[in-house]
Amino acid sequence: MTIKIEKLYKHYKQKDQIIQILSGVDLEIKTGEIVALLGKSGSGKSTLLSLIAGLDLPDSGKVLINDTDLFKLSDEERARFRGKNIGIVFQQFHLVNHLNAFENISLSLEINNKKDNSLIRQWLDEMGLTERAHHLPSTLSGGEQQRVAIARALIFNPKLILADEPTGNLDNETAKQITKLLFDYVRKLKTTMIFVTHDRELAELADRIVTLKDGRCDF
Ligand code: ADP
Ligand code: MG
Repeated sequence: MTIKIEKLYKHYKQKDQIIQILSGVDLEIKTGEIVALLGKSGSGKSTLLSLIAGLDLPDSGKVLINDTDLFKLSDEERARFRGKNIGIVFQQFHLVNHLNAFENISLSLEINNKKDNSLIRQWLDEMGLTERAHHLPSTLSGGEQQRVAIARALIFNPKLILADEPTGNLDNETAKQITKLLFDYVRKLKTTMIFVTHDRELAELADRIVTLKDGRCDF
């Protein structure tokens, strides 16, 4: 999936102040490419990712995903496009608390009108979670929760993975393991990925590093 970001602007209002977060972001990503997005805390990485996911709207500018002009779609069309094409992995995991590991992964298939219990078992196995299938998120370690979230994001074979500091809440050793696991699967499935991190060592695993600074992308 090729992604073309053109002159993206976004501000927020805080009290009476206007804070310009993105000031003309331009970026192109090729199909199957893994891009690490680096930048200081508060530089707008999550803002940019939520625009690419179509979870938020910019002040101006374009996001083209293949031939789809994201902000020309209606809210409903955009949500459907996201559900079908984009898998998202968050820092805070965002699993559904009252569903167990199996059910959390299943939910992601159901959104795409699919049901395939043996595929879910296969993903649980690949993520080393077979013994944890019936555990609720609150009884799983951070690393285990993120492996559930990775399976949930990849199981419906999305064309694009957006990962927002997916290992930011994990200890160093687990962070490395989970990042390698995620990269291995994304490479195997030839999925395009934007991987947000502030850890340069993890960023080095990507095909390319892009830095967000002063509201723009530096190459
Ligand atoms: P990063 O992910 O790089 O840490 P963010 O994109 O989360 O940065 O945030 C960039 C800036 O925008 C921060 O200063 C943050 O406080 C501000 N911000 C983010 N979301 C909102 C919002 N909904 N309303 C107001 N300010 C926001
Ligand atoms: Mg962030």
